[in-house]
Amino acid sequence: MSQLQSLRGMVDLLPEQTRRWQAVEAVARDHFRRAGVEEIRTPLLEVTDLFARGIGEGTDVVGKEMYSFLDRGERSCTLRPEGTASVVRAAVQHGLLSQGAQKLWYTGPMFRYERPQAGRQRQFHQIGVECIGVSSARSDVEAIALAWDLLAALGVQGLELEINSLGTPEDRQHYRAQLVAWLQERQDQLDADSQERLSTNPLRILDSKNKATQALLADAPTLLEALSPESAQRFEQVQALLGQLAIPFRVNTRLVRGLDYYGHTAFEITSDQLGAQSTVCGGGRYDGLVEQLGGAATPAIGWALGMERLLLVLEAAAKANPEGPAAQLTAPTPPTVYLVNRGEAAEAAALGLARNLRQAGLAVELDGSGAAFGKQFKRADRCGAPWALVLGDGEVEQGQVRLKALRGDADEQTLAWADPTTDLPLLLNALQQR
Ligand code: ATP
Ligand code: MG
Repeated sequence: MSQLQSLRGMVDLLPEQTRRWQAVEAVARDHFRRAGVEEIRTPLLEVTDLFARGIGEGTDVVGKEMYSFLDRGERSCTLRPEGTASVVRAAVQHGLLSQGAQKLWYTGPMFRYERPQAGRQRQFHQIGVECIGVSSARSDVEAIALAWDLLAALGVQGLELEINSLGTPEDRQHYRAQLVAWLQERQDQLDADSQERLSTNPLRILDSKNKATQALLADAPTLLEALSPESAQRFEQVQALLGQLAIPFRVNTRLVRGLDYYGHTAFEITSDQLGAQSTVCGGGRYDGLVEQLGGAATPAIGWALGMERLLLVLEAAAKANPEGPAAQLTAPTPPTVYLVNRGEAAEAAALGLARNLRQAGLAVELDGSGAAFGKQFKRADRCGAPWALVLGDGEVEQGQVRLKALRGDADEQTLAWADPTTDLPLLLNALQQR
């Protein structure tokens, strides 16, 4: 029979990788707890209209990348391509916004039908934050700092923060007309994709990866120049506050982000370690979205970072600095005890001993091989546990267990192991003497 394979762009996380992911998630969870950001979990599957309305029909995500299908009830469903629309839907649906501003975070898989390559998959994962119900420049900077500091806490280095202002819908409308007029005069110099976008989503041309188009755009009018005085002043404020927090940034007048709902502050955090897929985290303000999804007009800002790209950067950081926080994050945590056991009676007793120790809170690796003692000790050494407990039929007969230090030079001890209720405290006590 032929072997079955995972779908293209859908990736398994094997135990070693899963361990790293869990370490990252643990740091994130604690980071958000300290910032009063609460986790929210929404379904992976939503009605297609949520994304069509929320993200915008003219975007790549909605136009080309969604996994949409009719379910058995003939409803058009879509595997979520991003988290923001779902979080806002949930907040509106459950009336969270009437309870005041919400600071929410989420993590989980997203689905986009893209061309898979390094740092780009069809099922990928994000950690994201949505701060809904605040409009100040200060809240923009708090949100950006949440992302920046999380990455710093993880030990990621060489990051660059780029910011831009997309202004108000009026600012953008005004600018769109300017840009389209300018580009139409130079239409023949644009790549095919950008020519198409000229009528569908002209601002996205600014984001083109095509070298010739990028060169052409160097002289194009910028959004920044088209901002109203109020929008420009708001952007100044954001920059001043970032300066106050000593978070370094660069203004990139061509940063527009892929999704339609952004306005005012937009930002990306990039890494020089990632080649073409250099953006680790992207976000911005989306004041129009809540209303667009049927809620009362409510300002909001959020961001999402890509787990796969983050892990690539972390691996590079761990390699560059084997003692640093990134390396420590990905190091395995060995069990406290490796339980060596051989012989019919010993193997049965070991099962109970391992269980008692685990119930008492210890991490215990039970050797289940039945191999010779020498082989089991080799494995015990390799696994990095500080202690081995040894059970042979002889020990069982005498109601004992031997405790051997695998690290350091503590003397071997023989402890009673006949009655777990009385003997367990003594054994635990001996295991704590490191
Ligand atoms: P890109 O320009 O790289 O396609 P995007 O603008 O489509 O990114 P967002 O929708 O802002 O990305 O998503 C936020 C983050 O999620 C990205 O910065 C990236 O780290 C990650 N991401 C997006 N698409 C993918 C993907 N297909 N595979 C892996 N990570 C992704
Ligand atoms: Mg994309």
